[in-house]
Amino acid sequence: MAKEYANTNAALYKNVWVFCEQRQGKLMPTDFELISEGRKLADELGVDLCGILLGDEVKGLANELGGYGADEVIVCESPLLKNYTTDGYAKVMCDAIETLKPEAVLIGATNIGRDLGPRCAARLHTGLCADCTHLDVDMPIYMDFLKENSTLPEDRLKVIEGHTVKVLGEDHDTTRDLKMTRPAFGGHLMASIICPRFRPAMATVRPGVMTKSKFDEAKANAVKVTEFDVQLTDADMNTEVVEVVKAAKQLVDLVGADYIVSVGRGISKDVEGGIKLAEELADELGGVVGGSRVAIDSGWLTADHQVGQTGKTVHPKVYIALGISGSIQHKAGMQDSECIIAINKNKTAPIFEIADYGINGDLFKVTPLLIEAIKKAKA
Ligand code: FAD
Repeated sequence: MAKEYANTNAALYKNVWVFCEQRQGKLMPTDFELISEGRKLADELGVDLCGILLGDEVKGLANELGGYGADEVIVCESPLLKNYTTDGYAKVMCDAIETLKPEAVLIGATNIGRDLGPRCAARLHTGLCADCTHLDVDMPIYMDFLKENSTLPEDRLKVIEGHTVKVLGEDHDTTRDLKMTRPAFGGHLMASIICPRFRPAMATVRPGVMTKSKFDEAKANAVKVTEFDVQLTDADMNTEVVEVVKAAKQLVDLVGADYIVSVGRGISKDVEGGIKLAEELADELGGVVGGSRVAIDSGWLTADHQVGQTGKTVHPKVYIALGISGSIQHKAGMQDSECIIAINKNKTAPIFEIADYGINGDLFKVTPLLIEAIKKAKA
């Protein structure tokens, strides 16, 4: 039986933590995004930002995390933590959280994060908001304070936009909450969620959504490194990683790409030809090919190419949409691109509402012209 933990006294919990995922001794890009975002939250709350790093001989990675804004890195080392296992990582994370009591824990919504986060939240009896796209601090405004200090009439004090109004003397009146925002109802609205009665508040955050801050050498050298006393034995482990096998095919790096050419249902009359055009255009630009969910569900591209709410969130320099209508779920993953170019034969397609350049035409005629023009410009 896994050990259970208890955690309702919010006043005992302090500091923001980021779970820093490493694979084979290499930090993941999400770590830097979350450390940068966690820095802002910690500053707003007036607390420290700590990275929690699990692995075997990983202490040397701490400085890099400091360079992106961590005040402290809590290092948990054991040969049993060399490769990710749910049992080992969940036990050590829960032990560390129970001992050191952070008020908020952020975890990247990677495959590992999506496995680890809910397991820890359930064991810690706390709430986790999955797949967040925005994080904020919800500071309560106290009614008694407002009544004494505001010139507003009392009936107008009831709702203060964007904040929770709490009456002094109620339970938890000393707390402030992590406001976790994520798409809900198929992406048709954004839900802001708080976890007011339990600690820590936990969130998994979509990779690619938060912006990485600039690396600061001085901060990297100044980071405090604390070693956590890991209590982990073979008896705690139900699984053993025998071998780590790399995927035979290199997955496409949409999140890190500067140029993305995506295809949608618009290529259906000649799928092979449409993908070839997208690949040619992407090659000319030094970019990669993405797709709408239709392109993935139809088996035209593999799942790692999907852009959107249930795919990747991207912000390249240029995003070119070929035959994509611009559904709310697709836009959720690409609307923050620096420049959006859309080619669509329907001039009322919603993608044109967010496009910087819209070309109303047949993608099979327009794309070859674009490729030619780029070739000429390069020559
Ligand atoms: P369509 O909407 O069918 O659009 C095809 C477009 O191609 C049309 O605008 C048409 O005018 C144009 N066209 C056709 N022929 C040509 C031509 N020859 N030249 C130029 N233009 C042409 N979708 C995603 O993309 N990503 C997600 O992550 C995602 N997650 C979802 C999650 C949920 C919970 C749900 C309910 C849906 C999700 N979807 C997602 C699906 C989404 O709602 C849309 O169905 C999908 O994005 C539509 O893909 P599309 O634009 O390729 O196809």
